[in-house]
Amino acid sequence: MVRVAIHGLTNAELVQRARKLLPRGHGFARRIHRQVMLEGRFCPASLGLGREACAAWHSKFSFDLPEVVTVRSDSGDHGATSKAVLRLHDGLEVESVCIPMGRGRYTLCVSSQVGCKMRCAFCETGRMGLLRHLSTEEIIAQVLVARHRLGWPIRNIVFMGMGEALDNAENVIHALRVLNDEAGLAIGQERLTICTVGHVEGIRLLDRQGFKRLNLSISLNAASDSLRSELMPINRRTNLAALQEVLASYRPRRNFALGINYCLIPGVNDTEEDARAITSFCQPLGRVLVNLIPYNPGSQPISRAPEEAEIERFIGWLRDAGLAVRERVTKGRSVMAACGQLGNPDARAQRAASA
Ligand code: SF4
Repeated sequence: MVRVAIHGLTNAELVQRARKLLPRGHGFARRIHRQVMLEGRFCPASLGLGREACAAWHSKFSFDLPEVVTVRSDSGDHGATSKAVLRLHDGLEVESVCIPMGRGRYTLCVSSQVGCKMRCAFCETGRMGLLRHLSTEEIIAQVLVARHRLGWPIRNIVFMGMGEALDNAENVIHALRVLNDEAGLAIGQERLTICTVGHVEGIRLLDRQGFKRLNLSISLNAASDSLRSELMPINRRTNLAALQEVLASYRPRRNFALGINYCLIPGVNDTEEDARAITSFCQPLGRVLVNLIPYNPGSQPISRAPEEAEIERFIGWLRDAGLAVRERVTKGRSVMAACGQLGNPDARAQRAASA
């Protein structure tokens, strides 16, 4: 029988499962869950359980973290950006990135899929295609590895690693509940961000979950249908008008500010007309914050990285039009940990060769 992964459950879910599966020792479920989540170990004996009850726990439940294959770091003004490559139980690999946010605070960028089927033109992961979804416990495992194996002092979590989070909505939404669980990891919703290409069914589903303080950001990258369809094939299925409509009705709280991520690609989406198109796209969306991300050339660049003057000029056009804009300082470029650089395009071929 397949054992149940403890770290894929909330505290209350583990209590329920343990009651069902264990004749004895289920009363320790709450403490075992906290031990796994807060200490990164599964050792019922250390909590005072007898030999038989411990064996029963180990026969029904598991706590296995992926192996850390490599960790590479790139130092910057606010601290080091580090990328960890993790090997999953089936040999496939995912990447998580620890990003310094200043004042000793770090954000962990987690993956939600191995590869991605969205095929955005500027993204390394998109070139892999989708190999598979990550389960809830594989998503949570990235946080536990970061905290307990690598000692990274993670404060915020953003679903912006490999994969389109809302293409794996069921597992991602469950992972949000596990992360937010007061009796477990207790990471506040305001410290969690879902980033999506604009998966409208996923946004509607997220809206129905009642997460009042969760952050949401969308990757816009072009505000005309023709260019966006070229850069982001999802736009051929859901155009900007449909995306705008679903975003305009996404209002989890009164002071909610939607994140608009815009990867600035020189010669592709960096004209004054592009800036004007962003402004009119954002106009009906209420409060927004544009995150301007300088393009990071990957293994098959579609352009170069923008110069600082080009970034400033573009930001100026947006601010003049009244938009709140923040430049996302590029971090981790030298270790391929920056936005759009995660992923191993050869993974599909490698898997086919080993099958
Ligand atoms: S940018 Fe995100 S959604 Fe697009 S291909 Fe890359 S991982 Fe997938």
